[in-house]
Amino acid sequence: MLGPIDLHTHSSVSDGTETPTQLVRAAIAAGLGVVALTDHDSTAGWYEATAAAEGTALTLVPGMELSTQLDYASVHMLAYLFDPGNADLVAETARIRSERLNRAEAMVQRISADYALTWDDVLAQTVPGATVGRPHIADALVARGYVPNRSAAFESILHWRGGYYRPHYAPEPLEGVRLIRAAGGVPVLAHPGARGPERVLSDKRMRELVDAGLFGLEVRHRDNPPAARERLLATARKFGLVVTGSSDYHGTGKPNLLGENTTDAAVLEAIVAEGRGSQPVGAPLERPLVE
Ligand code: AMP
Ligand code: FE
Ligand code: FE
Ligand code: ZN
Repeated sequence: MLGPIDLHTHSSVSDGTETPTQLVRAAIAAGLGVVALTDHDSTAGWYEATAAAEGTALTLVPGMELSTQLDYASVHMLAYLFDPGNADLVAETARIRSERLNRAEAMVQRISADYALTWDDVLAQTVPGATVGRPHIADALVARGYVPNRSAAFESILHWRGGYYRPHYAPEPLEGVRLIRAAGGVPVLAHPGARGPERVLSDKRMRELVDAGLFGLEVRHRDNPPAARERLLATARKFGLVVTGSSDYHGTGKPNLLGENTTDAAVLEAIVAEGRGSQPVGAPLERPLVE
């Protein structure tokens, strides 16, 4: 029997608090059968996570959460089993990470007018090469004692209406789907019921994404309210998309717990059959996954 399947987690390569090795160990301790590592805009954790998963009972699905943007709304696109060496995807994610750095520095510049916060404070909260985001600024604000935790920082100083917010460059969702598909990957729209995507993804936009190769919707996610899940299930049926469920685990950086939402084995099987750029690693998946 394959254990629970959780297709959305973050390590310290982006804004999770655990190294890829620690994350893999946490997934094993949580009793998961399959975990996907999906750091924001980076595959830098794949190698370490693969090494940690080898020889264990856990299957690791290599992935990423690509930042995209439409009409000022942030739309996150999960990508599975793509080629991490694909030149276009490598270039685009490098650009996003670089623009994220500039943007974080600009936010710190603004914040420093009112709070004793330096760019070094933020760097002290990141590992070299990490995809830097508001969570790292949050950690620096926590270290300075201005807020008790990340969530409190996001509700105040780091809120997009908090007065210090700056956007960062990201491609449009349609471009994201095309890049992922061209790299042999499988695109799944992350937490589409969260306010950003829901505001901008009309049926017409959804049709475009599906025609470009969008494969699924992450319906079971704590940021999708119940009513949104109903709508998303109908959308998935209408467009022939698979439905996933995941935790979006960030270590201690968020309350989300490994395995709190899971994906059906049949859906994982469909994703694995669709992926052309890389393979699951660690414990081999039995075929067929579903009798
Ligand atoms: P950014 O992409 O830099 O704008 O930051 C958004 C990231 O912050 C998302 O990927 C979330 O993982 C994280 N995030 C959003 N809200 C919260 C929260 N309330 N507590 C902790 N992390 C959060
Ligand atoms: Fe995150
Ligand atoms: Fe996300
Ligand atoms: Zn995420």
